[in-house]
Amino acid sequence: MKIAVIPGDGIGPDIIRQAYKVLDRVGKVYQMEFEYQEVLMGGAAIDQTGLPLPEETLKVCQSSDAVLLGAVGGAKWDTLPGHQRPEAGLLGIRKGLGVFANLRPAILFPQLKSASTLKEEVLGDGLNIMVVRELTGGIYFGQRGRQDSSAGQEAWDTEAYSTHEVERVARVAFEIAKGRKKKLMSIDKANVLESSRLWREVVCKVAQEYPEVELDHMYVDNAAMQLVRNPRQFDVIVTSNMFGDILSDEASMLTGSLGMLPSASLGEGNLGLYEPIHGSAPDIAGQNKANPIATILSAAMMLRYSFGRQDAAAAIERSVGNVLDQGFRTPDIMQPGMKIAGTEEMGDRIAANIS
Ligand code: NAD
Repeated sequence: MKIAVIPGDGIGPDIIRQAYKVLDRVGKVYQMEFEYQEVLMGGAAIDQTGLPLPEETLKVCQSSDAVLLGAVGGAKWDTLPGHQRPEAGLLGIRKGLGVFANLRPAILFPQLKSASTLKEEVLGDGLNIMVVRELTGGIYFGQRGRQDSSAGQEAWDTEAYSTHEVERVARVAFEIAKGRKKKLMSIDKANVLESSRLWREVVCKVAQEYPEVELDHMYVDNAAMQLVRNPRQFDVIVTSNMFGDILSDEASMLTGSLGMLPSASLGEGNLGLYEPIHGSAPDIAGQNKANPIATILSAAMMLRYSFGRQDAAAAIERSVGNVLDQGFRTPDIMQPGMKIAGTEEMGDRIAANIS
């Protein structure tokens, strides 16, 4: 299995090193062979080539079976114009790989309940919500503009969706729901927006192909409220680009630990892009302080969604739980009475616990 790896900037190389350890170990135990090819993106690419996403990088990624990304960005490149900044590489690679469905699980490990801002009784025995966000359409890509008017300047952005765009992301969400609790919540604003009314119609049509999955709908304002009131009512959520941007951040912060959360972005084939949701954390780069779990869990998602290896993915997730049970914590999730571990030790322990 060919994996293109983008270590990136800041803590990127620190956390990617830990993912290698875990993948090598899981490969041995589950008889899989990985071939890694490291490529440049973000600040590291700007320094060496002048571009945030060199053509060669995109080519290697497109011809791989999966792409694993650390994080990009840092103060050094913050003064460059938008299209030359490290983050332009992120948008470019998502577009270049055609990944239209962004999967962001919000998982609260029961061992880390106290990290959440919610009360223990709301959290029960932990949280596990999967947000599926449409990634390449909607208002972030629609027509926009400005013009002078009698009331000063006027500006507009357009939320537009086609049947095809909604169908394909809905299918991804139904497939995921099928493999979990068979419950899907589609979130829209169909009481006001025409684009949401089309969204709802299409999701209902796709639902006919998945009679085993129970589909519900919720308005986005209510969903934002329900996520903090009773988050355990949700299992899989599917929503548009902008609503998903906002709700997935809200859902992930319910877990209180940025360093724990992975993500996957999927397209039509098996090729996917896997990355932690956090940034390059320049404040702790190279200090053996970064939590590598988000990246390690992103590698687990890669095994599940690009390589179809549910067994090996589950083994990584179990191992993370075991190491937390043993009381090891990186500084960001440290709690009284636990044992502090650096980035390297955490990676070593998670790799060693895989069985
Ligand atoms: P950040 O996520 O990098 O850091 C926010 C805070 O969380 C910092 O205090 C950091 O130390 C901490 N943190 C983040 N990840 C951690 C981890 N794995 N372990 C322990 N602590 C962790 O967000 P920011 O500070 O707003 O951004 C820093 C840079 O990252 C910026 O250049 C930004 O543009 C970039 N960024 C990149 C991505 C990406 O590559 N996908 C995403 C967001 C931000």
